[in-house]
Amino acid sequence: MSFRASVLTLYPEMFPPMSKGPLGHSLAGRALEAGQWALETVQIRDFASDRHRTVDDTPAGGGAGMVMRADVLARAVDHASPPGDPRPRLLMSPRGKPLNQARVRELAAGPGAVILCGRFEGVDQRLIEARALEEVSIGDYILSGGEAAAIVLLDAVVRLLPGVMGNEASAGEESFETGLLEHPHYTRPQEFEGRMIPDVLTSGNHAKIAKWRHEQALALTAERRPDLIAALQPVTK
Ligand code: SAH
Repeated sequence: MSFRASVLTLYPEMFPPMSKGPLGHSLAGRALEAGQWALETVQIRDFASDRHRTVDDTPAGGGAGMVMRADVLARAVDHASPPGDPRPRLLMSPRGKPLNQARVRELAAGPGAVILCGRFEGVDQRLIEARALEEVSIGDYILSGGEAAAIVLLDAVVRLLPGVMGNEASAGEESFETGLLEHPHYTRPQEFEGRMIPDVLTSGNHAKIAKWRHEQALALTAERRPDLIAALQPVTK
């Protein structure tokens, strides 16, 4: 069975099938149409219990903003992910573990994901604990809602699903897959505003090209992301 995503959100119109959105175009969109993955959205508001369809309330203890209610969210989660659903339940959250390519690979190898998108100040802590939600961050900055984060996560996962990327080989050589940032790319024209494509790339010497690319990747990573160099396995250093 292929990868199945359920996105719980107050804005299902940001996702297919209600609108195309980023996941309805290009690689992810074509894969969706081809049935290489499936996407369902769940409107959280449908699980409110009052006439006004309220999903949030003021924070206990006071302070600014609103908090999403545990009871409403629990009903939405239980609807999307009944007991026995093997898919991980994720909560997009700036407090979560930062998403990286290794976690993306794990998710892509699994049955799918149930993804809760927060809004306002976030969600009641008891929901996170009671439904064992895995908090996932896409970086150290604050978005206005989890939808953009969910789109980022799904975009990264879907391109790794079997058959989705035309050129399977290119997936393994990209930034982070090797533990390094990728080497620079060039294409025609040979000269652009006085800048030439490096000679080695047009030499036809594939061993030299591979060596040059590796050196470039190392130098670039050392300069921009020394943390990645420090994390390399001693054997590949
Ligand atoms: N008050 C919270 C931020 C709430 S932002 C705090 O300071 O931690 C509203 C929602 O946007 C969050 O519930 C989450 O779902 C989403 N969000 C914001 N930044 C995010 C990030 N860096 N990664 C993933 N989700 C994020």
